[in-house]
Parts: sequence; C-alpha cells; structure tokens
Amino acid sequence: MAHVVIVGAGQAGAAAAAKLRSLGFDGEITLIGAEPAPPYQRPPLSKAYLLGEMEEERLWLRSPEFYTEAKITLKLGTKVTAIDTVAQTVTTADEVIPYTDLILTTGSTPRHLPAAIGGALEGVYTVRTLADVDAMRTEFREGRKLVIIGGGYIGLEAAAVGRKLGLEVTVIEMAPRILQRVASPETSTYFRILHQDHGATILESTGLDRILGDSHVIGVRLKDSRELPADFVIVGVGITPNSFEAEHAGIALDNGIATDAQGRTSAPRVWAAGDCASFPLNGAQIRIESVGNAIDQAELVAENIMGAAKDYIPAPWFWSDQYDCKLQIAGLNTGYDKIVTRAPDGHAVSFWYYRGDQLLAVDAMNDSRAYMVGKRLIESGRSPDPAKIADPATEMKALLKA
Ligand SMILES: Cc1cc2nc3c(=O)[nH]c(=O)nc-3n(C[C@H](O)[C@H](O)[C@H](O)COP(=O)(O)OP(=O)(O)OC[C@H]3O[C@@H](n4cnc5c(N)ncnc54)[C@H](O)[C@@H]3O)c2cc1C
Repeated sequence: MAHVVIVGAGQAGAAAAAKLRSLGFDGEITLIGAEPAPPYQRPPLSKAYLLGEMEEERLWLRSPEFYTEAKITLKLGTKVTAIDTVAQTVTTADEVIPYTDLILTTGSTPRHLPAAIGGALEGVYTVRTLADVDAMRTEFREGRKLVIIGGGYIGLEAAAVGRKLGLEVTVIEMAPRILQRVASPETSTYFRILHQDHGATILESTGLDRILGDSHVIGVRLKDSRELPADFVIVGVGITPNSFEAEHAGIALDNGIATDAQGRTSAPRVWAAGDCASFPLNGAQIRIESVGNAIDQAELVAENIMGAAKDYIPAPWFWSDQYDCKLQIAGLNTGYDKIVTRAPDGHAVSFWYYRGDQLLAVDAMNDSRAYMVGKRLIESGRSPDPAKIADPATEMKALLKA
C-alpha cells in the first residue's frame, strides 16, 4: 500500500496531509513532528498569543479529531533522526518507518547568538515555538526592560507587545534601517515612526558587542561602547532552514533543501515544502518564509504526488500586526524601480511597487481593500496606471474592472 510519510508537523506538513486526503489519496499518511503540540499556526506567537489574548487551542490548525477521522497517523514529540533514500525509510528513536513518498516540511530554526557574546545567558530568548513563547511570557510585566536584537518582523511584533504591556523597549538593528532585508525604505520609515510614536526606542546602524551578565542577562553592550540595562533580551536575527537530516541523507541543498519547480528534491520520491525548501525562480533558488508559501507549496506537492505534474507559481502574501496597524503584503517587490504611494485618508497608506510599467507588489497599512485589489491585480498580471493608484479619488474595485 502507498504510504506518504511527512517529516515536520507544522504549517506545511499539516497542509500536505490534509490536501492528500481531500484529493482522494487512500494510502497511509504518517505525519511526524518533533514538538509535542498538534500542528499549529506560528504567527500569533509574536502577536495575540504573546499578548495573552489567545488560548493555545486556538493556535491549532485542526482539532485532534480531524487527524483520527482523516486516518492521518500523527506522531508527536517524535524526531526523525535519519533518512535512507535507498531503502526508503525514516528512523525515529523507536522505529524505522518505510515510505513510498516522503515529504520534508521541517521548517527552520532561529539563529542564536554565540555563547561567547552572552547568547546562552538566562533571560535570552528566541521566538519560534510555543515552548519558546511560554518560557518568556511571564517576563512581559509592566516597567521591565526589554532589549530586542534585530529589527525584523518578529522583533518588531514583540516590541509592540512589550510596549502594549508597559515595558521599556529598545530595538537594536545592525543595518541602516529596520526591515531592511524584507521591505522598502518607505515601509521601514512607516514602522520606525509607528514604534517611536508608541514609545519604543529604535537604534539603527547599531551593532551589538555582547549581552552582559554572569548567569542571567543584566544588559547589553553596543559596539559604540554604550551599555543598556535589560531584564531580558529577545534575539530575532533570522532563521536557518532545517536541512540536517536531508543533508545527511545526501539530498542536495541550495539555500535550504533544493527542490525543482514541482517540489521534488534530488532524491527519488522525496519532496520538500515550506520554510525548509528552496525552489527555482528567475534563475535562483529562493525560499519564502510565510504561511501562504508553506500552504501553497505543500498543497502543490500533494497534488504532484497524485500525478498533477504542476509547477509552483508563487503568489506571495504576508501580514504583520504591530499596535493598531495591520500590514498586508502581496507580491514580491524584488527589482522594483518605482514606488507609488496611496494615502486615501490619515489612517490607511499603501506602497505600490513597479518595475517599469509592471506592478510587482503592494504593502498596505490599515488598508485591506488596497491589499485585496493589489493581490488580485498582481496574480492576474495586470498593472494599473500609477497615476490612478496615487489618486485618492480612485475607487479601488474599479481597477479590477479596467
Ligand atoms: C513568531 C512567528 C511569527 C510569524 N508571523 C508570520 C506572519 O505574520 N505571517 C506569515 O505569513 N508568516 C509568519 N511566520 C512564518 C510562518 O509561521 C512560517 O513561514 C511557517 O510556519 C512555515 O511553515 P513550515 O511548515 O515550513 O514550518 P513550521 O511551521 O516551523 O513546522 C516545521 C515543524 O517541523 C518540525 N521538525 C523539524 N525537524 C524535524 C525532524 N527531524 N523530525 C520531526 N519534526 C521535525 C519542527 O519541530 C516544526 O514543528 C511567523 C513565524 C514565527 C516564528
């Protein structure tokens, strides 16, 4: 009997298993996850869950009954330690499990700072898993001092939670601007001002020398010798794809586990999806670290296991919640040469990225309509006249009819 084994019971793993069943796959499905919790969504970990406004069960992607009813064998708290692509098996502490198809959805691990500069002190946290956030939640008490290393989305979301709960928050960013790796200068500026307006201190072009403390963190020293006191520190300096087991199995890596356009790795009948997987786009192997990508890639792999032979055409979308601002992003702005700003009122703002006449991406702040319309335009390959975008009188939905 066919047996699809999925390693990594997160966003992508759960999506692949559910999609296989919805497509009528009637073989065995085993979904193996190292964490004890059933597959759950991570975005609230740095938002509503960290703020204490969401129960753990609401993070779960499906109820435990779903897996029983769909005949998906869920092995939680179970790490796959080896893959044999010739014998077609995976190994855990307890068993060797044969597969006919294997999907690697192993996600990623946050980068840690070296112990030599204080990265292993008590009170230094990263934000990836439920366990990470459960460990740090009690630190978020009014009046305490939080230093965040790294001004990416996760760091900034944690900063917003900190300010909302009355902490003194400082974000240290080595690059000239926060969000530099992922956003335009305009979007960075929007969020810098948003944080400053809420009382967070944002230090850009500022390197960390070391985290201070004997066993527990007491502060940080910056490259310019300034010292800042800290009760705790969050490190949000990016992730590395989890490819250890794949690499040991001889599966090709290139910016993560390399796949072809259909989600196949270099090993026969082994597929990959989500944060751990790179795919070909415009001559490079790229990875997209987002929920939308994890789901779409995983569902595509399920379809291709069922024989669809479809290529992955990414339709990226992303969001971030900070204070009362909802950022929604559609498309990828890589290679843009022009930004058009739309500011229909004092609250909603969107940045529209063009290369020549082609619309590439939209960043919408507090403007769901601009996001929805922009997303549909990008996905259907249409590029409205920038003058119309900039004109606050333009009715957004009319752009879809043009
Ligand atoms: C705090 C936070 C906030 C985020 N906010 C947003 C957001 O607002 N919007 C957005 O689009 N994206 C957001 N993301 C990113 C998004 O959550 C990820 O891109 C997505 O979870 C990737 O899904 P995945 O299935 O590839 O990996 P994961 O969901 O990480 O799942 C991988 C799983 O595989 C397990 N695993 C790894 N190795 C093994 C092994 N050898 N054996 C067994 N199990 C293994 C891991 O333990 C993990 O549970 C956020 C991420 C974080 C951490």
